[in-house]
Amino acid sequence: MASSPTVLMRLVASAYSIAQKAGTIVRRVIAEGDLGIIEKTCATDLQTKADRLVQVSICSSLARKFPKLTIIGEEDLPPEDVDQELIEDGQWEEILKQPCPSQYSAIKEEDLVVWVDPLDGTKEYTEGLLDNVTVLIGIAYEGKAIAGVINQPYYNYQNDENQKLRESRNDAKAGPDAVLGRTIWGVLGLGAFGFQLKEVPAGKHIITTTRSHNSQLVTDCITAMNPDDVLRVGGAGNKIIQLIEGKASAYVFASPGCKKWDTCAPEVILHAVGGKLTDIHGNALQYNKEVKHMNSAGVLATLRNYDYYASRVPQSVKNALVP
Ligand code: AMP
Ligand code: MG
Ligand code: MG
Repeated sequence: MASSPTVLMRLVASAYSIAQKAGTIVRRVIAEGDLGIIEKTCATDLQTKADRLVQVSICSSLARKFPKLTIIGEEDLPPEDVDQELIEDGQWEEILKQPCPSQYSAIKEEDLVVWVDPLDGTKEYTEGLLDNVTVLIGIAYEGKAIAGVINQPYYNYQNDENQKLRESRNDAKAGPDAVLGRTIWGVLGLGAFGFQLKEVPAGKHIITTTRSHNSQLVTDCITAMNPDDVLRVGGAGNKIIQLIEGKASAYVFASPGCKKWDTCAPEVILHAVGGKLTDIHGNALQYNKEVKHMNSAGVLATLRNYDYYASRVPQSVKNALVP
């Protein structure tokens, strides 16, 4: 007889359903037309109504089901009562059927830290670059990112097939029930699912980086890598998806600004398919609950050929980015 699912697999199965619900909220806020934009630290550091609602939805849904988890989300939670409509109680059955990697089978709820980015790529969301947006739920154990879920609410948004689909349903706007979006999930030692793994052609060096948070250091670092092409897109989740789908060979961000909730889930998906994500010095990122939130020494991530990029980071750039 099959044994009952472990805490980790139950958590991933719940996070999957919760991330799907989050995707519907992200689409609903756009469909309703009032983004409720607030500047946090500056004009490129924004929060919308979707960031706020999804933060409440994910953190409250997880906390109700797993009260001993440590949950660290990007946005502040309001003290008031949570609207029941935001709570997701489901769990994705396909995940519950998967075996838990043996090294994680004895993990207890209180040993896990969950890093939540309710909406990654907020700047792009406000500018209508909707397929840049992701919802990120990363799960860490003993300081290491071990499981993660990424929902991309507008996957296929600019795809012709979906345009036809929307037209055929007389639903030109991405309404709450449009057939849009996807959910990617992974666990180290088990794999990553919900997408087709693809690599950039051998010998091509395509770098993906920030479009809203550029700096001289970022430019210096990329120039030293002598790429064939540079893509500037929003979102840490979106850039990792580009790596696993053969659109870019390296994600290079030689700057502070990116936080632990930006990298935790994406790092797991990348590592689960044999890629590597570190800071710009090559150090692994730490995800224990006491760690500072900022990835002060930037991000360097690849699916393959990590050493090609790591060996080309200029010493001046390394000197400027203190871990
Ligand atoms: P980007 O590649 O610019 O989309 O950044 C990836 C993630 O890091 C997003 O969640 C950004 O909001 C965050 N981020 C990067 N740089 C900064 C910054 N200078 N200020 C605030 N957030 C940043
Ligand atoms: Mg983010
Ligand atoms: Mg965010």
